[in-house]
Amino acid sequence: MSVSGTKTPRVKIQIHPTLPPVILLAFALGRGREFLLVLLAVTIHELSHVLVGRFFKLSVKRFVLTPLGEIAEIEKMESLTEIPRLAVVLAGPLVNFLLFGICQGYFATANLALCLFNLLPAYPMDGGRFWHIILGRRLGVLRAGRIVTRWTRFFAGLLIAAGLVQAVLFSYNISLFCAGVYLIQNNRREKLRLQWDFYRYFTARRLESIPLKKRTFKCFLFDGETSLLAMLQELRWDLYSVFLIAHQEKIIAAITEGAVIKAAYQPGAGRRAIDLLKND
Ligand SMILES: [Zn+2]
Repeated sequence: MSVSGTKTPRVKIQIHPTLPPVILLAFALGRGREFLLVLLAVTIHELSHVLVGRFFKLSVKRFVLTPLGEIAEIEKMESLTEIPRLAVVLAGPLVNFLLFGICQGYFATANLALCLFNLLPAYPMDGGRFWHIILGRRLGVLRAGRIVTRWTRFFAGLLIAAGLVQAVLFSYNISLFCAGVYLIQNNRREKLRLQWDFYRYFTARRLESIPLKKRTFKCFLFDGETSLLAMLQELRWDLYSVFLIAHQEKIIAAITEGAVIKAAYQPGAGRRAIDLLKND
């Protein structure tokens, strides 16, 4: 599953150019049936994300079929609160687990493998997105993103090492090795995506746009010399941050997260909390 931001009303279904040759290759190697069963499990996985997303009124921009899996680009995930977002993220692995329970043979094994692989706490897997949401609420969205990025590097290294052992033991089977390399390659793109998602989520969020009943605040006490960057680190999902600025043991001002975001992305603005007060 992937999260995207641009608006397109119709779902675009794309087939990655490498998919047909890989299917042919699988059949040539006598593994065609297994490959198609894995593809079916992956399709059900992605459709589960889509259906739960639809339930919460999200739309799907693109559905891409690749030999390594499918990607459903679900729009405006960030407009949901924590619980619905977790439901969309966990829908895929959960349905795979249910299919593992009720099916038999290779299809059951494929579903279990898919469920476990997707629960790895690494990007772009659902496990990575799950922990980004959970940690983002407690440690701040930016910090959570950095932690999951580090975990991704760790698991990629582990997969590459396991892949080398697998290649030796199972006559050149390099599937784990390829998965590890893919995680490292994708991690760079994921870092950019995290920054973009962060910017989009917090610039769109206004205190006035949150229903009065749902306004939950988190207050931070900071010194006037605190950098805007340090304040950005504290922003959390579903909690509106307010920064109290202290000077000589007294609280001299309160700054909303909206003001911090605006100043942080404005060229030429000051870099400290105190600069925001001067601007006012
Ligand atoms: Zn998924």
